Amino acid sequence: MSGKHHINTSIAGTALLLEGITISSRHKPHGSSSILLNYFHHSSLFIWICGLLCLIIGALLPDIDLRDSMISKLVHFHIPIRHRTWTHTLWLLLIPIIIGWVLLLRSSNCNASFLWFSLALGIFWHLVMDSLSVGGVCWLYPITQYINYPDGAHIKKHHWLKLYSVKKKSKAERFIVFVIDVLAIIGLILTLA
Ligand SMILES: [Zn+2]
Repeated sequence: MSGKHHINTSIAGTALLLEGITISSRHKPHGSSSILLNYFHHSSLFIWICGLLCLIIGALLPDIDLRDSMISKLVHFHIPIRHRTWTHTLWLLLIPIIIGWVLLLRSSNCNASFLWFSLALGIFWHLVMDSLSVGGVCWLYPITQYINYPDGAHIKKHHWLKLYSVKKKSKAERFIVFVIDVLAIIGLILTLA
């Protein structure tokens, strides 16, 4: 999936999550979701923009293992390891989640935690979207492994949910992005209704 599409789906996916939290808090006004919303309502625009930036960085970060990805071009750096291995795992996702939790528990610094969790959300959506591609993602790599083919392709063992190929300008990829965008817009309408 292209960097542009990763940014798009991460924002739309996160919007869907927030819309779901907003709608569910109407039914449980004193639940954990309303505590979360209370934090969001009291956050400044600056924190929201920083959160969005962290989400975008997270959405692009796993592809730092590719020389020609959007993030590698932006920072003029890439990690020379096999694509979709260490940077496409649960282990990478756990790093910002643990840092976010530690900050929250030790200093009750909600804003710093919010930014780390935003980064984690971006990484999460990247992994989810890549999981739907032909090659799939071994979230537990190297515990779970890819099958290597002579043409250079490597595909997750027992991978069956193959919704799009990673070819440039894949119609299926664009369609999936479109569907997620439409769902996010419908969610927004329901939230505002
Ligand atoms: Zn990727």
